[in-house]
Amino acid sequence: MPIQFRCPSCRQPIEIDDAFGGQAVGCPFCQKVVTAPTASEPEAAAFMPSAAAPPSTSVELGYPAAVSQPRPNWPASAGLVAAGVVVVAVGILFVLSASLASRIKGIETSEGQSELIKQLQSHPAVLPLSIVTLIADLSGLVLSIIGLRPGYQGRKWQAAIGLTICGLLIIVQCLGVVQGLSRQAVGG
Ligand SMILES: [Zn+2]
Repeated sequence: MPIQFRCPSCRQPIEIDDAFGGQAVGCPFCQKVVTAPTASEPEAAAFMPSAAAPPSTSVELGYPAAVSQPRPNWPASAGLVAAGVVVVAVGILFVLSASLASRIKGIETSEGQSELIKQLQSHPAVLPLSIVTLIADLSGLVLSIIGLRPGYQGRKWQAAIGLTICGLLIIVQCLGVVQGLSRQAVGG
């Protein structure tokens, strides 16, 4: 038994399958999403083509609206995981450079520091760790921003944490690059 009612927005008569009664449906005339009644409106039913008329002349069926389903916020979770990877990779890099620094005499001098940079650059783990950090940092930033968009519901806190961690690390990395460039400019 189909449900017949008038669209609250454009007042056109709509006919839907009773399975969609009480649910959000898309109006085939004005495309607005409206809540269908659970029973036919007598006024709309009177307007509909009579049962004697061939079914092909009846108005288009309303279609169930896809918009009523909130999208799960997977980018926020993925962004947080990427931020976790960044923290672990940076932590390993930090421990590595600290252990290398402890073996260099006179680390506080510029010679000691350039020796540390030389040792870090030749260390086999530094390049892959740097690449992992960069990729995870950028993807974490992008995913967190996507997770914060209004289309995604829930788990915004994960996106906020991911955005904070990845954003801060990108700022720190940029400052490091600027510092390195200015040092090079001064040195040579
Ligand atoms: Zn309408």
